[in-house]
Amino acid sequence: MIPVTKPFLPAEKDFRDYVKGIWQRQWLTNNGPLVNSLELKLKEYLDLKYLLYVSNGTIALQIAIKALDLEGEIITTPFSFVATTSAITWQSCKPVFVDIDPNTLNIDPEKIEAAITPRTTAILATHVFGNPCNIYAIQAIANKHKLKVIFDAAHAFGVRYKGHSIFEYGDVSTVSFHSTKLYHSIEGGAVFTRNPDVLRKMALMRSFGYSGIDTFSEQGINAKNSEFHAAMGLCNLKYVDKILQRRKYLYQQYKLRLKGFNVEFQHIENPDDYNYAYFPVIFPSEELMLECKAALELEQIYSRRYFYPSLSSLPYVEQVPMPICDSIASRILCLPLYHTLTTAELDLICRVLLRTQRFGKLKAASTNSFNREIVPHIKSKLNQKAVRN
Ligand SMILES: *Cc1c(COP(=O)(O)O)cnc(C)c1O
Repeated sequence: MIPVTKPFLPAEKDFRDYVKGIWQRQWLTNNGPLVNSLELKLKEYLDLKYLLYVSNGTIALQIAIKALDLEGEIITTPFSFVATTSAITWQSCKPVFVDIDPNTLNIDPEKIEAAITPRTTAILATHVFGNPCNIYAIQAIANKHKLKVIFDAAHAFGVRYKGHSIFEYGDVSTVSFHSTKLYHSIEGGAVFTRNPDVLRKMALMRSFGYSGIDTFSEQGINAKNSEFHAAMGLCNLKYVDKILQRRKYLYQQYKLRLKGFNVEFQHIENPDDYNYAYFPVIFPSEELMLECKAALELEQIYSRRYFYPSLSSLPYVEQVPMPICDSIASRILCLPLYHTLTTAELDLICRVLLRTQRFGKLKAASTNSFNREIVPHIKSKLNQKAVRN
C-alpha cells in the first residue's frame, strides 16, 4: 500500500531520551523547558527573531485574527485547507473570497482590490503547497487600504523568499506542525510576527490571558503545547534537512517521469529555498483525474483530492462561484510524497498514470493485462527491496 503521505518518525531512542528527562523533571506542560528549547532551536534554524509554539495550526490562525483585532470582512483564498476559512468564521468575521491564479494556485492579487469594501480589515492568504504568494503585491494593496495581512504558511516550513524566512512576512504568519506536514511535532504549530506588541499579545492569549499569577490582561485561550510534543519537535528538527533533500529528489523524479503526461504542474514563484511539500498535478479534465485516481487505487496507491471542494462552497459561508478555483479543485490530485517513498514506488505510480492516460477509459480487463505485463516487473523490484530491508 502506498499512502498519500506518511508521518516522519525519528529514532525511537532519541524520543525516549527526552521522555526520561520529562519523568525526571515531572514538568509536563505550561511553557516547560523542552518547549523553550524548541522555540530557541526553531528561531535559530529559521533565522527568526520572534515565534511562539502553539498547540496547532488552526489555533495559530485564530490567535492571529484575534490579536490583530480583526472584525468585519477578511479577504481570503477559496483554495486552501478548511481551517483557513473556518478560523475566520470562528472569530465571527466574514470571509470574502477572491479567485486564484491558475498557475501558482495562490490568491490572485490583481483581483483583491475589487473585493475591498469599507468593512474589509485584512487579507488572509495561503502559500499553497508551500509556494510563496505574491507577497509584495499583497502587502502593497494592504498598505494602500490600511489592511492587516496574515499568511497561512501551514505548508511552508523551510521556504525562504527574497532573503528571509517566509514566516517573516505579513503582520502575522502561521504554520502547522501536524504529523502530515513535512516537519511536525505530532500536533503543533507556531505564530510569527516582527511586531513585539503583537507578539506579547499573542503570548498572553496562548495561555488564558494570564499576565501574572492572579492577573489577566487579555481575553485568552489555551493554545499551549506540551513537553511531549516539543520533544517530538526537537527530535524531528535534526532530520529536517534530510527530509527536505529527499523530497526535492522525489519531486524532481516525478517531474522527469511525467514529462509526456498531459497534466500541468504548479508554477513555483522562485523562492530562494523551496520545500517540495506536495506533488499536485492538474489534469485536463475531472474525468481523467478520477480515472487515474481509480487506476492508482487498484494498485493500492492512494492519492488525495487536495484541495477539494472550494472553500467558497462551504455550507456556513456566503457561497459564491470562483470559476478558476472551482475548475482547478475539480481536476487536481496530490500524488504520494513522503521521505520514505522509494524510487520504485514512484516509478509504479507514474507508469499507472501514463498508461491510464494513453489507453483512455479505465477497463478492468486492460488493467489486468497491465498488471500482467508491467507490474510484476516493478513488484518484483519492490519485493527485492523489501527483502533487503
Ligand atoms: C494543516 C493546515 C492547517 C491547520 O493546521 P493544524 O495543525 O492541522 O490545525 C491550516 N491551514 C492549512 C493550509 C493547512 O494545510
